Amino acid sequence: MSKVLSIRTYGDPILREAARPVPAMTAEIRTLIDDLFATMRAAQGVGLAAQQVGRSEAICVVEIPAGYDVEDENGPRLNPDIPLALALVNPKIVEESDETCSMEEGCLSFPDIRGNVERPWSVVILHLGLDGKPKTTSLSGFFARAAQHEIDHLGGDLFIDHFSHVKKLAIRSKLKNLKTETLEKLHAI
Ligand SMILES: [Zn+2]
Repeated sequence: MSKVLSIRTYGDPILREAARPVPAMTAEIRTLIDDLFATMRAAQGVGLAAQQVGRSEAICVVEIPAGYDVEDENGPRLNPDIPLALALVNPKIVEESDETCSMEEGCLSFPDIRGNVERPWSVVILHLGLDGKPKTTSLSGFFARAAQHEIDHLGGDLFIDHFSHVKKLAIRSKLKNLKTETLEKLHAI
């Protein structure tokens, strides 16, 4: 049975820590993947990284609605060979397109904060498959964006780092309040 874990918010130091590579696929790792999916679905997100539930393994999950994996409404899926629910273990971006795209993003660790982030349109990711073997996955469009956002988390990088200077100034007090709230909660435990 998978568990819904509590989501760490901005200000929690673990969000700024780089994840540790997973040495091998074990039952424990599979359970963590199941729990990440359960937690992400319960929060109605499209992706979640291990640090967001207080873990340090280099694991993230992405699950996007089929309707997001299209270029045009009623068009074919952009990534038809990739399951819409994707777990990435030890992911590393090995190739990215020169073509970029800017789009508004949110993050489960930043309730009420959204902002535009420019990212490569497509990426090639090297990672471990669920069978423990190295695997290469190519993604484009929104799917690629969601995966890049999650892989950033594993390096301790956050989507706000990509915001423009003006946007960073505009959310400064919101961020400060969120950090204070998070730290108060952490110290209350
Ligand atoms: Zn996020």
